[in-house]
Amino acid sequence: LQSRVGNGLVYSSDYLSDDQATSLLLTNIQGDTLIEPRVIPFKTGQRHFHWKKNVVALGLAAGFLEPLESTSIHLIQRGIIRLMQMFPYGGINQPDQHEFNQQMSDEYEFIRDFIIMHYHITERTDTEFWRRNSAMSIPDSLQHRLSLFQESGRVFQAEGDVFGENSWTQVMLGQGLTPASYHPIVDMMSDHELRQFMRHQLQRVELVIKQLPDHNAFIAKYCPARL
Ligand SMILES: Cc1cc2nc3c(=O)[nH]c(=O)nc-3n(C[C@H](O)[C@H](O)[C@H](O)COP(=O)(O)OP(=O)(O)OC[C@H]3O[C@@H](n4cnc5c(N)ncnc54)[C@H](O)[C@@H]3O)c2cc1C
Repeated sequence: LQSRVGNGLVYSSDYLSDDQATSLLLTNIQGDTLIEPRVIPFKTGQRHFHWKKNVVALGLAAGFLEPLESTSIHLIQRGIIRLMQMFPYGGINQPDQHEFNQQMSDEYEFIRDFIIMHYHITERTDTEFWRRNSAMSIPDSLQHRLSLFQESGRVFQAEGDVFGENSWTQVMLGQGLTPASYHPIVDMMSDHELRQFMRHQLQRVELVIKQLPDHNAFIAKYCPARL
């Protein structure tokens, strides 16, 4: 999309009417609007069974989480890959269906936890929306991840979790969740060694960045649009 900027506003109808949301969206847009805003209601959740008999649900037919982390296309791709891995030959069998359903369901739940985390550990308290959502009860799996990080700074990426350790860590630290302790291996390095190590890391990153084209140059080279 190179000729215009797409804009949207995700809101909860418990706290904002469609008219209020539309006016909030429009007051934050710079430049001319090309179309009237459309309200797209959504209900979150996933199917009890992604694969049942000879029907496999993919994409929106399988479930929807919410647009904050934009994972729908990833889930479609994962569903297709899993279906290829477990594609039936000589008849559909129950273990294949069960494994497919379990893996899909786990993946939705990892993303669910990641999204809930944003709302749960938010530092915002300025509106009822944020106050209510930060106080909501959270899944045990998320509570475990948060406690683990809070106590020891440990983060693990589970099998099938799209979000890596760095993503979980970024959100937790970014939202003010600081671990009470750190891994003892850190104490085996002097401050000087640690500084040198970090400087070396920075140099490596800078070296890669220097060789990369900027955003406009990349688009002009690989996917220029006819405007
Ligand atoms: C503005 C916007 C931005 C988004 N950004 C992102 C993003 O950055 N990253 C991301 O991962 N996801 C994003 N998404 C979500 C993602 O694009 C959608 O979840 C995904 O395209 C859904 O694909 P789908 O094939 O499941 O459904 P659809 O694309 O809705 O396809 C369903 C198809 O079925 C057809 N159909 C419906 N009913 C019938 C019927 N009865 N008979 C025959 N055909 C029928 C429809 O016409 C349609 O062609 C975004 C969505 C929107 C709206």
